[in-house]
Amino acid sequence: MAVVLSFGGKSLDALYNETGSRDHVFDYLQSVIDNYDKLDPPIKEDTKNELVVIKTQIELLSLPSGDEYMGKGLALKDPESTKLLQPQHIRREVDTVWENDTKKASVKKKNGLSLFKLQAEAAKGHHWAVYTKDSKRPYWNQYDLLGLFFSKMGPAPGGDVADQSKFYLPLTAVYAKFCLWIGGKQIPSMKDDPEKKNKKGDGQGDPPAVFQCTWNSETGDFFLGATLAGDRSNGTKLEYGAWEDKVKKARWDLLANFFIFPGDWGPFEGGRSPAKELDKKTTLFGNCGETYPFLEMMGPHVKDTDRARMRGLALGKAFASVPLYEEQKFFNKLIPPCMSCQQLMVYAGIASVNQFTQDATMDIPLFPYWPSSGV
Ligand SMILES: [Zn+2]
Repeated sequence: MAVVLSFGGKSLDALYNETGSRDHVFDYLQSVIDNYDKLDPPIKEDTKNELVVIKTQIELLSLPSGDEYMGKGLALKDPESTKLLQPQHIRREVDTVWENDTKKASVKKKNGLSLFKLQAEAAKGHHWAVYTKDSKRPYWNQYDLLGLFFSKMGPAPGGDVADQSKFYLPLTAVYAKFCLWIGGKQIPSMKDDPEKKNKKGDGQGDPPAVFQCTWNSETGDFFLGATLAGDRSNGTKLEYGAWEDKVKKARWDLLANFFIFPGDWGPFEGGRSPAKELDKKTTLFGNCGETYPFLEMMGPHVKDTDRARMRGLALGKAFASVPLYEEQKFFNKLIPPCMSCQQLMVYAGIASVNQFTQDATMDIPLFPYWPSSGV
């Protein structure tokens, strides 16, 4: 069995096994910040300073009671309605357009209005990038910010020494486990589980369905991301309007400069995607765990030589039933890229889906328009 590498001063399999609370997650992030220049690879001081800010942003959107998660400071015109607002893992503000429109909620929803708008402003430090440098993108959710934190710690120790077995699979498993502790309503299995009797977390929504890592097999550069999760489509007694669509569109919009995206699949309002039309799924572009990783690792800024070195894996949320790290136990939880992600790979000039399916059971159809398929 491959020896699992250390990252951030801790062997990744041990980190997976021992992370049994959200405090453990934040203790690890803090230890990375405290020991930044002694780690393998060492973290530059500028990057360490960014990690301090990112960690704070994660905490604000996280369990148990981050201010932005709780919606502290949100105020509707009617104070009684304000009391009905519920927590969610998305940075948001009240949209006054919705408040000032006196039409019925259902009509406003039809018109594309929602109670909230996303809050992710560059001027407030909500935009980030690693490999795309000044071409930054908005972050408004703690799962994505956690992927960003890990990605800023890169590259992988030893560059090309790292491979899926030794590094990227255990790294993704740790990332996934951390995500379950900081948000959502599911708690991961632990061998000695103090919360065994209570498998439900207090967070909002299901955890991300898929956790993805894309990496450069030569340089060890990598990026982690998760599927869209943590939003709440409606209040119990309060209409949120087209809020869910707004969040989905914001993820779609991230892909705006990704080669010829959306090609024939746009605009967002048309509701079209290869996953829907070719594989009976419901997901739209931008929803997938691949979104931030593909933008960082495969965008137009990447050289063709590096494009050929790109690899990837995606771990499904069923991973959470594995209490102790064991590589083989994750193989049937690895998910190949969906039809929409395969379309993005074709746009990006990736030669073969096989670069992203090591050990994954290919039970998703091959996108029919791969150049090599001759279609
Ligand atoms: Zn996908």
